[in-house]
Amino acid sequence: MQSCVFCKIVAGEIPCKKIYEDDALFAFEDVNPAAPIHILIIPKKHMETLHEIQDADKELIGSIFVAANEIARKQGIAQEGFRIVANCGENGGQTVFHIHYHLLGGRRMEWPPG
Ligand code: 5GP
Ligand code: ZN
Repeated sequence: MQSCVFCKIVAGEIPCKKIYEDDALFAFEDVNPAAPIHILIIPKKHMETLHEIQDADKELIGSIFVAANEIARKQGIAQEGFRIVANCGENGGQTVFHIHYHLLGGRRMEWPPG
């Protein structure tokens, strides 16, 4: 999608610190990190919100968590633990409307979220 920031990152039109890429997924450092490790994992396919996920996307969405495990291992946070967050829509606090999963680590997380 032409006006989408994350589609532009996937296309190389906006620079990023790339962490991982395969045929369907892309991962990069968050520009405004909320933790020592803050990586965004996204499907290359433009989908606006989690609410769009359908049966046909089950494998794609599952692969995000497999990639997250691989990234967490490489980042050295697999053993100590990490958090994966996905915000959906206005009340979910979503600001970029291309599905993304935040992988956060490197510090103790708090609960509940704000
Ligand atoms: P949301 O609030 O939608 O769950 O998360 C969007 C995230 O995208 C935010 O943490 C924000 O810092 C990050 N972000 C927004 N624009 C850019 C960008 O151009 N580059 C990178 N690397 N991250 C971005
Ligand atoms: Zn997009």
